Amino acid sequence: MQVLVVEDDAAIFEPLIAGLRRNGFEVQHTAGGRAVAALVKEHNPDVVLLDLGLPDIDGLDALRDVRRFSDVPIIIATARGDETDRIIGLEIGADDYVVKPYSIRELSARIRAISRRRRNEVTSGTDRVTVDRNRHQVTVDGTSVELTAKEFELLAVLAEDPGRVVTRQELFSRVWDPVWVGSGKSLDVHIATLRRKLGDPALIETVRGVGYRMATQ
Ligand code: CA
Repeated sequence: MQVLVVEDDAAIFEPLIAGLRRNGFEVQHTAGGRAVAALVKEHNPDVVLLDLGLPDIDGLDALRDVRRFSDVPIIIATARGDETDRIIGLEIGADDYVVKPYSIRELSARIRAISRRRRNEVTSGTDRVTVDRNRHQVTVDGTSVELTAKEFELLAVLAEDPGRVVTRQELFSRVWDPVWVGSGKSLDVHIATLRRKLGDPALIETVRGVGYRMATQ
């Protein structure tokens, strides 16, 4: 898997590149934002890791440039406290973010999760439940089910990897607000409605105190 690392700070990118290579990734690197779009065009990486504080152009502008022609997965790297940049980044098309300082292990896990998500993007689910993101369609035992946008998104996240426990925090940050903190009543309400609409509550299992998962049987 090929990763394009966009980072101007040598104290970060040197160990980062070495670490990613040790984890089995092929890495390309640029220290500026202006070159990003051309590099994506030329090398077609699987994932872009994009620092937002760059010396030539703003990382968010580099992100916009790439999004004009490519839907390559992009993970933005932001400084702690830079919530505004993070939210704008996600709004203009970043797929995920890491907060500096992040570990190679965390980053590798996120890169793998994103590529897994991409593979499952079109249709995912189980023998009984299918989620088709392109058609925005859900079926249970072959019968299509009408869901609201939030319910659909919630089910789509659970269906990416049936059997995996998706934490409440992850569901909240991916379906509602990337920087959510709170009690999460609306999550439980949406899950309850979703179970009712799917017609079989056992299709979504509760893992008490942790989150939810899609049943594999
Ligand atoms: Ca920087």
